[in-house]
Amino acid sequence: MSKKVLVLPGDGIGQEVTASAVEVLDFIIDEYSLDFKVTSMNVGGTAYDESGSPIPDNVLDAAKESDAILFGAVGGPEWDDLDWDDRPENALLRLRKELNLFANLRPAFLFNELSDASPLKKEIINDLDILIVRELTGGIYFGEPRGIFLDKEPNYAFNTMIYNEEEIRRIARIAFESAQKRNKKLCSVEKANVLEVSKFWRSIVTEMSEDYPDIELSHQLADNAAMQLVLNPNQFDVIVSSNLFGDILSDIAATLTGSIGMLPSASLDSSFKGMFEPCHGSAPDIAGRNLANPLAMISSLSMALKYSLNEEEAANKIDKAIRKFIESGNRTIDITTDKKYLKTSEVAKKIIEMIKDE
Ligand code: NAD
Repeated sequence: MSKKVLVLPGDGIGQEVTASAVEVLDFIIDEYSLDFKVTSMNVGGTAYDESGSPIPDNVLDAAKESDAILFGAVGGPEWDDLDWDDRPENALLRLRKELNLFANLRPAFLFNELSDASPLKKEIINDLDILIVRELTGGIYFGEPRGIFLDKEPNYAFNTMIYNEEEIRRIARIAFESAQKRNKKLCSVEKANVLEVSKFWRSIVTEMSEDYPDIELSHQLADNAAMQLVLNPNQFDVIVSSNLFGDILSDIAATLTGSIGMLPSASLDSSFKGMFEPCHGSAPDIAGRNLANPLAMISSLSMALKYSLNEEEAANKIDKAIRKFIESGNRTIDITTDKKYLKTSEVAKKIIEMIKDE
């Protein structure tokens, strides 16, 4: 039976970078004679303008039936004043929630050739290779009760940070198993000094570590972890954290590499089906100008082939081609100070040439 790949380009540069990834995917499908059915649909602001919803029901249904989703990015100033439910970002939150994509894997790695783009000194950042495993469907972003109350003085608002044992165990399991495939170090990050939910998180992760004697487990408070990521990022291998802290830490880690245009991410359910997207947003400042770096999206395609579509060989070819692309001096606008750089539409062609040369 053919595998279903759903492409959701979204808004702004989401459309440009997914076009590049689809070009590479089409080549891979031909090269490996893969039985994939690729469908593309609108989400985000683009879908709202067309249908009045940032994630129409038919898109949600198609997403539920897919083996892998390639998601570009959503959002833009033209949709900033919409009601909460209509905002483009709601497409992402609903997909994560309804597809139960509870594990967000965000690699942050540096090609040493690009270390000049990092805000950190070379000796601190060189060889960076960490993986942040962020819980994605629970915690304070979804916790109930929540609300804004404007009928009493003083007015107030609140949210609820809540995790049950099962939610902690399933994300910790993904993190321990990811560490087993890497350098066997796992750092769990929370605020056990001030939050009950974090104390509970720490006790469950500590108990689980008995089942993973090969993994060196450590714990850090979120504020310290943010600082350590900047001071000495290479101390980390895998970091596991809740939705809120993981959101912040993974953005710091992405920034360390110098370009958000290079970093992919995967959001998986328990059967490893999932959604694959670059870490960056829709970049309205450069949208529509053929300037965006599509490598994060092409790298996300590689993660989709590896995790959800069982095509590891093809994924490795793409990863090698990206490395060769950088090593041979190819640059996009975000990773060079030169006036000479490749346009978005030129990158996929180069990557395909490099795959052919392998
Ligand atoms: P952004 O990631 O879109 O852009 C931040 C900066 O990085 C901009 O200067 C942009 O030009 C640059 N940049 C980002 N990706 C790039 C790429 N591939 N190549 C070259 N340069 C790149 O973040 P933002 O400006 O905070 O947000 C813009 C919009 O995107 C907002 O509406 C926001 O809500 C949305 N957003 C969406 C997602 C998502 O869909 N997953 C994530 C973050 C932000």
